[in-house]
Amino acid sequence: MKTISLPDGREIKYELTRKRVKNINMRIKPDGTVSVSASTRVAVKYIEQVLTERADYIFEAAKHLQEREQRSEITSDKMRWLGKEYPVRVIRNFSERVALEENELRVFTTHPDEAQAMLVKWTEERFTELIRELNSEVRNALQSSGLTPPPTRISIKDMKSRWGSCSYTRGHISINRRLMAYPRETVLSVLWHEYAHYWHHDHSERFYAFLQQHFPEYRKWNNLLK
Ligand SMILES: [Zn+2]
Repeated sequence: MKTISLPDGREIKYELTRKRVKNINMRIKPDGTVSVSASTRVAVKYIEQVLTERADYIFEAAKHLQEREQRSEITSDKMRWLGKEYPVRVIRNFSERVALEENELRVFTTHPDEAQAMLVKWTEERFTELIRELNSEVRNALQSSGLTPPPTRISIKDMKSRWGSCSYTRGHISINRRLMAYPRETVLSVLWHEYAHYWHHDHSERFYAFLQQHFPEYRKWNNLLK
C-alpha cells in the first residue's frame, strides 16, 4: 500500500497491480483505498498524478460506498447457490436489482421486506437460464455422437423424493428445483441421467455405461446428491 500526500493534508492510499490493461484502471473501496491496475508501461509518477487529479472524486465515491454499507444489512440468511454458500445482503437503494457481487448475494431495493421474494425470482430466472444452457449442451453432445434426442420439454419442479424424472414416451423431463443449491456439473449430471433414459429405461449396467461414455464425470458429480 502506497500513500500520496495531497497539498491540503489529505492522503490517498493505493495499491498498484501491474497487469496487461490499457492505460489505468482503478477501483475505489469503501475504506477509501484505491486499487489501481496499470500496465508496466505506465510510470508510477503518472499514476500518482492521475490519482491526485481525481482526489475529490475518489473521496466522494468512498463516502458514498461507506454510506451504502451502513444502510445495508447482512440478513442472517445464507443461501446455497450452484454449490457455494453466500450471505444475503439487503441494500436500500432506489433501483431494484439482485446481483452476485463480492461473494454476496445482494438485493438492492426500496422495499427490504420484498427482498426475499426478489431473491427467489432472481434464482428462478437464473436457474431456468442454466437449465436451458445445459440442455443444449447435452443435446449437442448427443448429436455429435450420432444420436438423435427426441424433442424434449423441460420443467423445473418441486419434487419430494427425486432429483429428476424422464417421461420418455411424452418427451418430458422434470428437474428438481432444489438442484439450484448444487454445482453446475451436478445439475448437468441429473440432466444426463434423465436423457439417458431415452435409450435405457432402467438403471441397468448398460444405462451407466451409456452415462460413462457420454459424461465420464457422471459419478463424481452425481455422488454429491447422495
Ligand atoms: Zn433414473
